[in-house]
Amino acid sequence: MKLVLLGPPGAGKGTQAAMLVEKFGIPQISTGDMLRAAVRDQTPMGIKAKEYMDAGELVPDGVVVGIVCERLQQDDCRDGFILDGFPRTVQQADALRQTLSDKGTLLDSVISLEVNTESLVERLTGRRTCGACGKGYHLKFDPPGSDGRCSVCGGELVHRDDDQEVTIRNRMDVYHQQTAPLEDYYRQEGLLQAIDGMDEIATVQQKIVSVLQAG
Ligand code: ADP
Ligand code: ADP
Ligand code: ZN
Repeated sequence: MKLVLLGPPGAGKGTQAAMLVEKFGIPQISTGDMLRAAVRDQTPMGIKAKEYMDAGELVPDGVVVGIVCERLQQDDCRDGFILDGFPRTVQQADALRQTLSDKGTLLDSVISLEVNTESLVERLTGRRTCGACGKGYHLKFDPPGSDGRCSVCGGELVHRDDDQEVTIRNRMDVYHQQTAPLEDYYRQEGLLQAIDGMDEIATVQQKIVSVLQAG
């Protein structure tokens, strides 16, 4: 199963991808997570990427396309993968199509999670992530245990620098300008399956699974 999760920041891509990894045993490929790892390790790429990420702008296509293409060559991607946060521009989508076609394969499905803007802002301002294992939480909608630490590993929860309201608003604009055109792009390819992302986490998961199993 070769899958793309599309949707604005805060739509639930990462949350749903993590649950699909458990269910289908295929890897999640999150460009946001890979870029944050590079920033943390202060690699040359990470140092460059940080400026864009802090401003809520997209990291240049060449950089992210390079990371994803390299990741897709790894063995664990042979039977499928879940792309979370990639592609985000038409150029990235074209590069993905080319990479897959060079390997003689195609995407199976693009799931688009639809959530209104005010809910996105509320989701992002309340988002917390375990600094140790990466598990995501929400202070109100998916709260950690009473000690305020990760319920899986006990790690400390962090609030991302770019999940502040000003940066969030810019990320929404960037989404509408640069990423939303991918909805039409994949609709024209007959791959787009829109899902109402306003439901509870478990309900959204059920809907995704039934759409994938029907496909
Ligand atoms: P994305 O990867 O699309 O940016 P996340 O999966 O990180 O989004 O979700 C953003 C925040 O919203 C997280 O704090 C997450 O716990 C929460 N969240 C995800 N899905 C839902 C949902 N269906 N209802 C309420 N909150 C949600
Ligand atoms: P969210 O799901 O909340 O939008 P991500 O973790 O996916 O956040 O991405 C965080 C930041 O990393 C983005 O704002 C952008 O700067 C950068 N980024 C992630 N994926 C891409 C991509 N495919 N193209 C360009 N920049 C990206
Ligand atoms: Zn943890």
